[in-house]
Amino acid sequence: MHPFSISRATDPATAIAAHAGDPHLAFIAGGTDLLGLIKDRAALPERLLDINALPNMAWIEALPDGGLRIGALARMSDVAADAEVRRRFPVIAESLLFAASGQLRNMASTGGNIMQRTRCAYFRDEDGLPCNKRRPGSGCPALYGLNRNHAIFGWSDECVATNPSDVAVAFAALDANVIVSGPSGERSIPFTEFHRLPGNTPECDNVLDRGDLIMAIEVPARIEGRTSYYLKIRDRQSYEFALVSAAAAVAIDRGRIVSARLAMGGVAHKPWRLTAAEAALHGISLDDIDGLKAAIATSFTDARPLAHNAFKVELAQRAAVRALQTAGART
Ligand SMILES: Cc1cc2nc3c(=O)[nH]c(=O)nc-3n(C[C@H](O)[C@H](O)[C@H](O)COP(=O)(O)OP(=O)(O)OC[C@H]3O[C@@H](n4cnc5c(N)ncnc54)[C@H](O)[C@@H]3O)c2cc1C
Ligand code: SF4
Repeated sequence: MHPFSISRATDPATAIAAHAGDPHLAFIAGGTDLLGLIKDRAALPERLLDINALPNMAWIEALPDGGLRIGALARMSDVAADAEVRRRFPVIAESLLFAASGQLRNMASTGGNIMQRTRCAYFRDEDGLPCNKRRPGSGCPALYGLNRNHAIFGWSDECVATNPSDVAVAFAALDANVIVSGPSGERSIPFTEFHRLPGNTPECDNVLDRGDLIMAIEVPARIEGRTSYYLKIRDRQSYEFALVSAAAAVAIDRGRIVSARLAMGGVAHKPWRLTAAEAALHGISLDDIDGLKAAIATSFTDARPLAHNAFKVELAQRAAVRALQTAGART
């Protein structure tokens, strides 16, 4: 095991300054991803700064306008069980409940969840196979190797990994914002801009800089929020990451879609929003399967499957249709 020291942060300003000034220091919350990365030698921090005692970061606040503020230290199980989360945005609660295991959800924080790193087996290999995300310039064995679980959208020759977070897909569909405090103050990052595509710097998963501490996720009020659903398709029904997942939120008037929000997981290096499909779905009846399929297909014209994952193109479109219909049935 890689040796490290650990200390506890008591206020955000000191934590931010410590992280900004020390490239070998990492924040630790639940530790459910970071400790695994350390064991696999995919992360080798020398110092861990435990942020669990930071004040006011574990709250789940139902905002008066119908939105939510979820503290970065709120545990996945607490968010999933919160009555207002379940009532206002069932898609968030479901995406959390379908993730990991009960024990992991009790430990794992919301901020840590959206920061978790890819499950690409080459990246996680403890013997240190080549991997551009782990060691820039060493190559991407998944590009021509085992890539069944990998991306069909937005990949580059440098990296074809997918983002493993379930709740990130729900946050992307709902146009949430990540509230970050850093050395130059607080800022709000639209969720769809938080994670990056790999390009030629696949080692960077997101847009955070040194010293950035995630404080909360804010979810704006949405008429589609209550009629939302998360569908996760995986190789076994529990304790498994998504092959493909779909977060859908929809508003219906007289049986027809007036607005739809759709994002997919398991298909790209970031949660993948189906913006073309969202526009094409306007006015379509939820009973019109051919219409729904045609609208969703507009977001798949640029899908680029790899050798072992062409099945995801069809599977993802079916998942999107089913998620939309299930969400709509909640009207
Ligand atoms: C066996 C297993 C199965 C799993 N299955 C799923 C699944 O199906 N779906 C799913 O979505 N997830 C799954 N997970 C992942 C799990 O949800 C994450 O490990 C967890 O959410 C990470 O949260 P944490 O608090 O433990 O983060 P940590 O491990 O403490 O931290 C993770 C990363 O986030 C950083 N970090 C933490 N908090 C902050 C903050 N506030 N600001 C800035 N950086 C921060 C840390 O420095 C670290 O880099 C699984 C994990 C395991 C081990
Ligand atoms: S897909 Fe990305 S994470 Fe996986 S081996 Fe290639 S570079 Fe590494």
